[in-house]
Amino acid sequence: MNDWSASSWRSKPILQQPTYEDQAHLNQVEKTLATYPPLVFAAEARELRKQLGDVAMGKGFLLQGGDCAESFDEFNAPKIRDTFKVLLQMAIVLTFAGRCPVTKVARMAGQYAKPRSADLETINGVSLPSYRGDIINSFEFTEAARRPDPNRLLEAYHQSAATLNLLRAFAQGGLADLHQVNRWNMTFLENNPLKDRYQDLAYRIQDTLSFMDVIGLNSENTPTLHETSLFTSHEALLLNYEQALTRIDTLTGKPYDCSAHMLWIGERTRQLDHAHIEFFRGIHNPIGVKVGPSMQPDELIKVIDALNPENDPGRLTLITRMGADKLADNLPPLLRRVKEEGRNVVWSSDPMHGNTFKASSGYKTRNFDAILKEIKQFFAAHQAEGTHAGGIHLEMTGQHVTECTGGAYKISDDDLAEAYKTQCDPRLNADQVLEMAFLIADHIRN
Ligand code: PEP
Ligand code: MN
Repeated sequence: MNDWSASSWRSKPILQQPTYEDQAHLNQVEKTLATYPPLVFAAEARELRKQLGDVAMGKGFLLQGGDCAESFDEFNAPKIRDTFKVLLQMAIVLTFAGRCPVTKVARMAGQYAKPRSADLETINGVSLPSYRGDIINSFEFTEAARRPDPNRLLEAYHQSAATLNLLRAFAQGGLADLHQVNRWNMTFLENNPLKDRYQDLAYRIQDTLSFMDVIGLNSENTPTLHETSLFTSHEALLLNYEQALTRIDTLTGKPYDCSAHMLWIGERTRQLDHAHIEFFRGIHNPIGVKVGPSMQPDELIKVIDALNPENDPGRLTLITRMGADKLADNLPPLLRRVKEEGRNVVWSSDPMHGNTFKASSGYKTRNFDAILKEIKQFFAAHQAEGTHAGGIHLEMTGQHVTECTGGAYKISDDDLAEAYKTQCDPRLNADQVLEMAFLIADHIRN
């Protein structure tokens, strides 16, 4: 690849990066990280790229989700387990009710760096640098906490490694056995209006499994019943970190960013002549780009050509985040143009980031109905243009938070204070997200 190296991004303009006071310390940390073992293996990233290739060709669905920002403080097994479980439950709903193979990609084990709309945050007349994610500084509103600290890169690596280790254990150690779905679904569903529907689905799966057992297909001889595959992803915003984890794959001789299986570029850092596009064009992972309402068809084709010149179907996922009121006008021209030009991509919908607002109670929130509206319009636009609505990208958690309003439990503005835990954007909780999965499944099937 012409003139690319893992550090060639350093000669390009770059946005949304912290300013470190101690460069020597930062350099030392980058050197240390570069000697650490990779978090994922390139062949796993290739497997995901293959699965996404099927999605691009209309033969599958991508389910991607997790926290807006993972946090060093909220780092524990129940939290990881609960998000893993709810992702799995959603995938089961989408697979059975939607009759569609689902590729699961967690927004976990590395989602620590955040782009911000302002460099400074002002509270009661005091201005301090904005919180930029735990890999950079701390959420606490003090001068010391907000100072970028290079040691946080090492902490992020270790917490990513431990998170990934547990996810792999859950995926392969039996927790994901389909025979278990009846058992692990019920605690948070107790009072859920969707309980009957989920229960019915669980019975149908049980029936199918009993039949398969009779004809000799069981967990022992059919690994896909016993284990699952779950990939990891994050926004590769902090390029120092991503460069330090980039390795040459011994099997193919090609560079992979081994901090996660899939990486994406955020809406604020996707300028064609800037550092992020430069870094991403050289790594061989499957990658994503956020596509907001200002994206024009010509520009999108240039982005696609920069990142996927070989037109490989699994390479590039376009994650649209238009806003419920803008999607119907802004998405169809993009779909049309990409189709006309014969570019192979996965189209996925992020229905969260275009629908954020400040509630009367002061909290940053999103409304369930607006999120659903964006999803419905996403499916409708694809149906009208004859393209494949390939996936969904959600900010969600398995925990009982009250951060987004609406849903079957009708969380109101006043309820937000009850369990508003996010350090960044509001997430759908376990009930809301499962409800969403049923509603999406209906669309996939149609
Ligand atoms: C995000 O995914 O948390 C995010 C910042 O999204 P976007 O780049 O679409 O604004
Ligand atoms: Mn976010």
